[in-house]
Amino acid sequence: MRDVIVVGAGGGGPVVAKELAARGLDVLLLEGGAHHTDPRASWTHFENDANNPLTGFLRFGPADRRKPAWLREEPQNSFILQVAGVGGTTQHYYGNSPRAFRGVFAGYEGPDRDAYDRAHAFPFRYEELIPYYEWVEATLPVQTAAMGTKETVFFRGAERLGIPVQTTKDTLRASYRPQENAILQPGGTAGRTTDPARLIYPQATGCTYCGFCLQGCMEPVRAPRNQYAKRSTDNSYVPMAMTASAWARGGRDVTLLPDSFVVKVHTERRGGESVATGVTWRTGATGERHREDARVVVLAGGATETPRLWLNSGLPNPNGWVGRGYTDHFLDGVTGLFDEETGSSKGPSSAARCDFPGHGALEQLGVGPAIQAYQMALSGSGVRGRYTNGRGMTGPWDGRAGRVIGPELKDALLNGVDRLLNILILTDDDVQARNRVSLSVLPPDAHGAAPKVSLDGRTRTRRTAANREFLARRATELLRRAGARKVYRLDWAPLLLHVHSSMRMGRSAADSVLTADAESRWVRKLYVADNSALANSLGGPNPTLTTQALATRTAEKIFTRHFGGRAWVGAEAPVASTDPRVTHAL
Ligand SMILES: Cc1cc2nc3c(=O)[nH]c(=O)nc-3n(C[C@H](O)[C@H](O)[C@H](O)COP(=O)(O)OP(=O)(O)OC[C@H]3O[C@@H](n4cnc5c(N)ncnc54)[C@H](O)[C@@H]3O)c2cc1C
Repeated sequence: MRDVIVVGAGGGGPVVAKELAARGLDVLLLEGGAHHTDPRASWTHFENDANNPLTGFLRFGPADRRKPAWLREEPQNSFILQVAGVGGTTQHYYGNSPRAFRGVFAGYEGPDRDAYDRAHAFPFRYEELIPYYEWVEATLPVQTAAMGTKETVFFRGAERLGIPVQTTKDTLRASYRPQENAILQPGGTAGRTTDPARLIYPQATGCTYCGFCLQGCMEPVRAPRNQYAKRSTDNSYVPMAMTASAWARGGRDVTLLPDSFVVKVHTERRGGESVATGVTWRTGATGERHREDARVVVLAGGATETPRLWLNSGLPNPNGWVGRGYTDHFLDGVTGLFDEETGSSKGPSSAARCDFPGHGALEQLGVGPAIQAYQMALSGSGVRGRYTNGRGMTGPWDGRAGRVIGPELKDALLNGVDRLLNILILTDDDVQARNRVSLSVLPPDAHGAAPKVSLDGRTRTRRTAANREFLARRATELLRRAGARKVYRLDWAPLLLHVHSSMRMGRSAADSVLTADAESRWVRKLYVADNSALANSLGGPNPTLTTQALATRTAEKIFTRHFGGRAWVGAEAPVASTDPRVTHAL
């Protein structure tokens, strides 16, 4: 019998595992995908090798790349970019770590109050989360992003929009700023040379400006794992979890089992209540099944898999909200073509942003040439100049929204990606019951019925659609003022990079699955600690920092309520994941 079993080692799970192991609990962390213990031996910077959704080393599939990727059903034109393996989708992520907007929390009374999805606000106040934000920001750590050419171009346009620069962690008004990100700043020779022979640790530390954030960070060469620049959880929280006995007084190392896909959560009736007792998982390499019990179970398989596991386990769903309310920032892309060098391929891949509380956010987005071509061809609006699928919005951009293909795409990519500047639109989207994860009727895989993700770009609320249009116009204006000679509006089909709130916590028992403490309303001792626990889409800011702050708070609730422990956030000083004691024990 373990103290705690955590399911999933992505953005949220390792946070709970690390915090509880540091307090001496016996934690088992189960991850369905691979553990890339020596990335330099098995990863490359080749885009297809890394990102191919069927065969890439960063895909949602088993550790053995010869086996097929795991099934998801998408009944609409959309694309899910989620990664299995230790680190989960943070292996892909860009490390951007803004806090949520205040307007999405209970008790907010600002003048723009009605601009948010108030019906689905967090069940506690923003102020309550601040100490947990600070704790995670010190642990990862989160710092102000390193700057380069693409940021200069972005800020030139942002400044000319007439909005101020923001210098605080809390976002209170429309503004622009360097990202607060979880990427170690360049030190030594890093950022000063492109000569690979001089970019070796410890001569170089932190971000080497390689520009491959999307493909799993393994820089600088020869750095210990917890000194890799990008603080995906495989480089930060997981090393901490596995070495807790070395850096925390009374700490106990987490047991991590990769290639271990949980297929069932077990419960029993106690005193008239349903209580979680443990899980069964399947080992990918052998197909064997194992069962283990625990005093508390924490689900952190991500916004798509956590509801799937719940439904496949036959757990209660009396109000029908398990899997519902899936928010995704209704992303869109706007790309500017410049006559000057934009430096889009270099540095932390997304280091500048604008925030528009009440509408969402814009951020600069660097990708390699293959993903650049892919993202310019992913549209719900057909092909520019040919057909529109009944959409093809007109506006300040050139021509109609839609896919860029053929000679136009060739022209855009003439100099690789370095005459382009992409802006990612992060829409503040409403929680809608119809956007959901349910179980597919397609033949099941080895883990049970596959998840079916239903998310149609055409059935969003009026507020969501208006926010996206507002942001697309602001992005176009920014690019024009920065000097773009041409601006493409892409009108992306749903691209699922940021997914949240499918097991949402809420004030009302009628439309939420979790209590304000992230415990299931219907099964005791069963908690959720991934993006699915979020009450809403945070107003548009990138989700992982908030998920990790919430997961820290959830770990504290578990420790105090079920293990008689004391709260620590605010009472102790956090240890940074770059601490040498983490390195030496690995
Ligand atoms: C290209 C890209 C860029 C991004 N950039 C940013 C950014 O800059 N900032 C930001 O905040 N967010 C960013 N994100 C989003 C970020 O990656 C997610 O917010 C974060 O990873 C979510 O954490 P999670 O724990 O909910 O899910 P995940 O990270 O997806 O982790 C879930 C884990 O659980 C495992 N799992 C699932 N089911 C089971 C099971 N039944 N048994 C065992 N294991 C299971 C999965 O294999 C996976 O490893 C980005 C995403 C993408 C794709």
